[in-house]
Amino acid sequence: MTALLELRNVTKVYSSGMFGRATVTALADVSLAIGDERPTIIAIAGESGSGKTTLWRLLLGVISPTKGQILYNGIDLTNMGRDQRREFRREVQPIFQDPFEVYNPFYPVDHVLAMPVRKFHLAESKRDERRMILDALEMVGLRPDETLGRYPHQLSGGQRQRVMVARSLLLKPRVILADEPVSMVDASLRATILDSIRKMNRELGITVVYITHDLTTAYQVCENIVVLYRGSIAEAGSIERVIKDPKHPYTRLLVHSIPQPNPKRKWGGDVPMVVAGEIGTPQDACKFVDRCPFAMPMCRESAPPLYRITRDQVASCFLYRDAPVLQQDAIGDVLAPAGEPSTPATNGRKAHGEV
Ligand code: SF4
Repeated sequence: MTALLELRNVTKVYSSGMFGRATVTALADVSLAIGDERPTIIAIAGESGSGKTTLWRLLLGVISPTKGQILYNGIDLTNMGRDQRREFRREVQPIFQDPFEVYNPFYPVDHVLAMPVRKFHLAESKRDERRMILDALEMVGLRPDETLGRYPHQLSGGQRQRVMVARSLLLKPRVILADEPVSMVDASLRATILDSIRKMNRELGITVVYITHDLTTAYQVCENIVVLYRGSIAEAGSIERVIKDPKHPYTRLLVHSIPQPNPKRKWGGDVPMVVAGEIGTPQDACKFVDRCPFAMPMCRESAPPLYRITRDQVASCFLYRDAPVLQQDAIGDVLAPAGEPSTPATNGRKAHGEV
């Protein structure tokens, strides 16, 4: 099976300082595969510094890996020919955390919508272009008469973000890479944007990679999740399993810190207090060892591989060393479990904190 999007042993190191002597490893030997059998919504979750934005930029092809490969439809992004790259640019669309930066303040927002249609020759006439733009705006819940002709500063943050979602839809992409798309909009609009993301997946068959630090919204819209910690996968699998029964001590910490509107209901059971750790972890050790209440001597000697705890859940933690080690190329199976066609991510699932 050829994956739609795949990372093979990807490492990304940034250099800084004089002569590039200081280096930071943003991603370390990460493998990931998103299948092409059916569209899905997958969350890449983690705190600031986990490597999730680096992963987003790598998938978009705006930066290259230091080591490893990124493939789209089996083709290495760095080896794409001109036509393949053009196709990739149309089929894989970004949504930015701060849409304001994408707009040219001197043009009404119509410009940002019409540009891709013209660039990729998607409309046969002006009238056709207009119809496509109206359809895309309506798809994201915007009224064209209240949107077109306005300048970016005349729209709210939520409207600007929805215009960017509409812009992506115009290109009929196969994949949308959304970087924290709701982190800068207020709660009342969050639900509308998340709803647009669900619609893209269910009605238009688009695969969405949802980059977030927020497990609540990930749980609302996603089917699978990859939790990153300091540039490595800590845990991955179906979102139901990972959120309701997190295995990695770091994921438990994240789940445990989700606000609880109902104090009687717990996510993930009791989690021991995690000690605040110094980031002085020995190289080759588990990256979480200084914060982990379950740390054992072996955790300081080598980094744990990903263990396949169940069919659709893996964790990089020696607590599960009796489980089989995940084969490098099997991560796609974990993230796209066989069986019933996807009941869209949540089927109306509500998460804690949803208004
Ligand atoms: Fe904790 Fe050891 Fe598991 Fe790392 S490998 S998360 S230190 S128990």
